[in-house]
Amino acid sequence: MTSLEPDERYSRQVLFRGIGAEGQRKLAASRLAIVGCGATGSALASMLARAGVGTIRIIDRDYVEPSNLQRQSLFDESDAAESLPKAIAAARRVAAFNSQIVIEPCVADVTPANIQSLLEGMQLILDGTDNFETRYLLNDFAVKNSLPWIYTAAVGSYGVTLNVLPGRTACLACIFPDPPQGTFETCETAGILNSAVNLAASITATEAIKLLVGAEAQLRRTLLSFDVWSNDRAEVAADKPRRDCRACGQHQFPHLAGEGRPHITLCGRNSVQIHERHKPVDLAQMSERLKPHGIVRHNQFVLKFWHEPYEMTLFPDGRAIIKGTTDTAVARSLYARYVGT
Ligand SMILES: [Zn+2]
Repeated sequence: MTSLEPDERYSRQVLFRGIGAEGQRKLAASRLAIVGCGATGSALASMLARAGVGTIRIIDRDYVEPSNLQRQSLFDESDAAESLPKAIAAARRVAAFNSQIVIEPCVADVTPANIQSLLEGMQLILDGTDNFETRYLLNDFAVKNSLPWIYTAAVGSYGVTLNVLPGRTACLACIFPDPPQGTFETCETAGILNSAVNLAASITATEAIKLLVGAEAQLRRTLLSFDVWSNDRAEVAADKPRRDCRACGQHQFPHLAGEGRPHITLCGRNSVQIHERHKPVDLAQMSERLKPHGIVRHNQFVLKFWHEPYEMTLFPDGRAIIKGTTDTAVARSLYARYVGT
């Protein structure tokens, strides 16, 4: 390991007037969480770790797959071959380019039950998720605890971002009172350009740095959206909370109560996630048990079990992702049969 003086590492950033030596010290003392480490989360973690944010907690429930490599910039082919959890792979990659900060990987799905413990001690939350269920959960948690968070999304050639400073700006629910219903575009239906992701993440990372160094006056107070293909760009004012907002105005936080959050969820095309079991699983033991029934492979973080036409990925906390079906009953019975109840 080369020892690199922090002064040298951050010299070009300290030269930038908006940051300076004082801003750099504030970044080093900062603690932020990135929820979801796919495309946006990868880009955010890379930029903010390189910029010297002192502690970054990376929370993600998934593992690396070959189709991620087109846009999820912290991962490589060996991560996909090993099916490494994204949080673990991201932490390894970040440690290789900045060993002077603390990275806290958490392989977990943020839920109403664990959000408090997963985000404990953080001063800023960044959205790297791909779903509105988690974003509304983050919004409720952030508004209730007066913690800033930044909404970031990208799909197709389109990106959008919003700074939420509870009590001072609009929150996600002020602008969109309810999560979108029915079918809406996702990366799996509309595809995604890695450049749209990186632009959205660049804007968010910059806003995060402004917030952490205290550059309040420079913070954007709009919902900004852009399309890198059509060149359309729009901004919607978001400079104050709406008085009749469910979260900001009425202090109602239904997403924290876990309303409508089942223990079994569809996640992505043709797969189901099961997180109803709270008993930890010994992956080595489970691997022996599953061997007679199909192809099985495991490392310390994850177990993969192929049982035609299904593919099950099992995590040490008992959570599983089953590919090859969208039928939750089929997924549940497969889980019960091979993992237990
Ligand atoms: Zn609000």
